[in-house]
Amino acid sequence: MVSQTTIKQLQRIVGRDQCFFNIEERLTHASDASSFRELPKAVIRPQNTAQVAEILRVCHRNRIPVVFRGSGTGYTGGAVPPQGGFVIDMGCLNRILEIDTHLRIGIVEPMVINAEFQAEAKKYNLFYPPDPASLKSASLGGNVAENSGGPRCVKYGVTRDYVRGLEFVTMEGSIVQTGCLADHFDDITDLTALLISSEGTLGGITKLALSLAPLPKHTALILGLFGSMAQAAAVIADMVQTGVTPSAMEFMDAATLQAVSTYSGRHFSEDVQAVVLFEVDGVTEAETYVQYEKVVEVCQKQQAIGIQIADTFAEKERLWEIRRNISPALRTISPKKINEDVTVPRSKIPVLVGRIVEIARKYQVKIVTFGHAGDGNIHVNIMTDEIKTQEFQRAQKAVDAVFNATIEESGVLSGEHGIGLAKKKWIPLQLSKENQTWQKRLKKAFDPGDLMNPGKIF
Ligand SMILES: Cc1cc2nc3c(=O)[nH]c(=O)nc-3n(C[C@H](O)[C@H](O)[C@H](O)COP(=O)(O)OP(=O)(O)OC[C@H]3O[C@@H](n4cnc5c(N)ncnc54)[C@H](O)[C@@H]3O)c2cc1C
Repeated sequence: MVSQTTIKQLQRIVGRDQCFFNIEERLTHASDASSFRELPKAVIRPQNTAQVAEILRVCHRNRIPVVFRGSGTGYTGGAVPPQGGFVIDMGCLNRILEIDTHLRIGIVEPMVINAEFQAEAKKYNLFYPPDPASLKSASLGGNVAENSGGPRCVKYGVTRDYVRGLEFVTMEGSIVQTGCLADHFDDITDLTALLISSEGTLGGITKLALSLAPLPKHTALILGLFGSMAQAAAVIADMVQTGVTPSAMEFMDAATLQAVSTYSGRHFSEDVQAVVLFEVDGVTEAETYVQYEKVVEVCQKQQAIGIQIADTFAEKERLWEIRRNISPALRTISPKKINEDVTVPRSKIPVLVGRIVEIARKYQVKIVTFGHAGDGNIHVNIMTDEIKTQEFQRAQKAVDAVFNATIEESGVLSGEHGIGLAKKKWIPLQLSKENQTWQKRLKKAFDPGDLMNPGKIF
């Protein structure tokens, strides 16, 4: 039960209409896109940074754990409320405050949706590259908290590479500005970097300064179709050797294509066992053309059985549609999808892909593999059904085997989805004891009472 005094204090801060204790609102904030679920005691919706700070002071005094929530599209349970805790729903902090075309920086509140920010930047001939597949719903605050990536990250980098400064609120209610949002520019220790990827465990992000790049004027899309997974994986490794970096290199295996085909009606010949979707871009048409020629050459060298090229907007949309349809398509083929986003050095992609095929065979489970393979990020989807107990147990063993194989190939547990609740069990595989100790000490320094998104990551 939340005490009447606490309720009154919260209502005084944000207004009665922005504090929710009813079951409907609590239920809709109980989970994210993962299968983890915990009913919060309350949902509070602040309108500004000062209110966030006041809410946190009340929660800190009363030892109430909190979680910050963006759009709730996270895949690892990051925004799932802690037991007995409150959700701080950042929905109202959703304004683009400024686009500075000289400094090429956008200042935004955390609930601005990625795609809306991209569209706004485009009006100024500027470009915000990080493009998670969830870009039409995920918030920029969530993107920073998870250090999200997407197809373009192979050329342009991940979210981390675009954060120039931020404002965050500590559990005790202090408001801290970092990087270019601080009065005297630049911290001594890089506090901005500490907050990125911290999954809402160190502070609540209330403002962001994000770098913008010049908008590439020309793009071309090329779909390479291959007779084997090994050829598709090899083409990615070959591409890296050429010195040309496509702005996207998306890899999809035969099982993925089959699911997309059933879902969307787009047919692929039976010979096609894998495809790679390449995007190249440039400021001039000539620059783009040179890269396009290189992609075609590399595909031909790996004996592509087909190469499809899109020049017009409509053709490009048709090719991107294949990639965008994966997530909904997979939902139709089995009741449960265990979705892991492991990452290895690009040169190790063919090896890991081969090992995943072996793991599927060994545990007799269906594994669908696709991803932003350009930066080594492979989405491994183990398709199963919790009701089929034996199959589900084999699927869980397969997950364990995938993580072990990834670490053995010098990879990491997560390329972009974070650790949250879903992967914390495997953290000791990736991080040494010393590393874990210092991460835990860092958390303690920010949040000594362990009230901000407790139980996540570690
Ligand atoms: C269909 C689909 C496709 C996806 N594709 C990709 C992809 O291509 N690449 C990728 O990287 N991810 C992808 N994701 C995962 C997800 O969209 C990202 O992790 C995204 O950044 C989460 O943003 P959100 O606003 O939904 O955050 P939430 O899910 O609400 O929260 C995620 C974490 O961030 C914290 N957080 C949120 N806002 C704040 C804040 N203001 N201050 C402090 N902490 C905060 C939360 O506490 C939580 O720990 C996908 C998800 C779906 C459902």
